[in-house]
Amino acid sequence: MAALVLLRYGEIALKGKNRRFFEQALLENVKTALKGLGARVVRLHGRFLIYGEEAEEDAIIRRLSRVFGVVSLSSVKTAPLELEAIKEKAVEMVGSGPLPGGSFKVEARRPNKSFPVTSPELNRILGGAILARHPGLKVDVENPSFCLFVEIGAKESYLYRDQVPGPGGLPVGASGQALLLLSGGIDSPVAGWMAMKRGLRLEAVHYHSYPFTGLRSREKVIDLCRLLAQYCGRLELHLVNVAGIQKEIQAHCPADLGIILLRRMMMRIAEALSRQRGLQALVTGESLGQVASQTLESMIAIENATSMLILRPLLGMDKQEIVALARKTGSYEISIRPYEDCCTLFLPRHPATRPRLERVIQAEEALDTRSLTESALESMESMAIED
Ligand code: ATP
Ligand code: MG
Repeated sequence: MAALVLLRYGEIALKGKNRRFFEQALLENVKTALKGLGARVVRLHGRFLIYGEEAEEDAIIRRLSRVFGVVSLSSVKTAPLELEAIKEKAVEMVGSGPLPGGSFKVEARRPNKSFPVTSPELNRILGGAILARHPGLKVDVENPSFCLFVEIGAKESYLYRDQVPGPGGLPVGASGQALLLLSGGIDSPVAGWMAMKRGLRLEAVHYHSYPFTGLRSREKVIDLCRLLAQYCGRLELHLVNVAGIQKEIQAHCPADLGIILLRRMMMRIAEALSRQRGLQALVTGESLGQVASQTLESMIAIENATSMLILRPLLGMDKQEIVALARKTGSYEISIRPYEDCCTLFLPRHPATRPRLERVIQAEEALDTRSLTESALESMESMAIED
């Protein structure tokens, strides 16, 4: 027997005339997520139906539960458009042996109005058939222990019980493209996940100071991208060496501004890279008040180096909330592996926490920011990372 999975999407349906565009983006992402499984996707009035091999049903549901835009998924059984057949299937789906006392309700929909039995009548008839077979059960429409959903389609009827939640949000790609500044820490992968959830397709840039930062850090960032690719199919990662820039900063600028100046260079490189790649915004894992570089004054001094829109999806979140989300998405276990971060190298003993913008700009005059940006990009290494 074949497996059949019903996929529901919510927010998309609310988007008025954009609806077709969103549906198309979701359809493509669903097909990408199912690649290699030989499953077929069919549109069905505001939902998708996925036909696949029975042995692959779990894999289909698992993969689709990571596709943004998916609200929920159900394993579905079909019956012909005949009342007796639907009754039989409904009873079969409730179970065969004697059931412990519990309550249920039947919830029928009839998009196909040519079917002669109305939804309330169907609820009653199917409920009656189930009660006749399982006298220990009760009907409870307010707070049932389980629901049996029945949908009368154009060619057949669909019955299902459980709903597996999807991640919600908007299909990746539907909102545009952005560049994620991905460190090896806990925050930026979560920020990337949240940006993807709002429909952004991402590329990632990671700044390292090889050979001062080791290959373990590199592996870690690649693993984080592989994790993110589970939610978007594919991710381009750019690795940029900033060791030379750090040495310049150390040699020519006040020590307490070292991190701010490095961050400004990261923004410049990110902007130039975005222009090359046609990306419209930057995404960071910054939150407010977490560390010295995340005071309002520091953020003002950092973002002053670029004219691009910077999205900070974590801004209002507490560390515990970020950690909880990192655990949910699966990035936490990768992020807590030990690593060297380029920002902790050459770390000033007393970083400025409330740097004045004029002082920062003046300190930066000692650097040739343009040629530093260009040479960092020339030695950049890029790779495509797939799920
Ligand atoms: P994270 O956990 O993401 O490292 P954090 O709490 O350590 O964040 P910061 O070190 O202040 O915060 O970094 C703020 C943001 O700057 C990061 O979330 C990330 O977006 C960006 N960033 C920092 N270091 C790097 C890096 N080496 N490569 C790319 N982006 C970076
Ligand atoms: Mg960090």
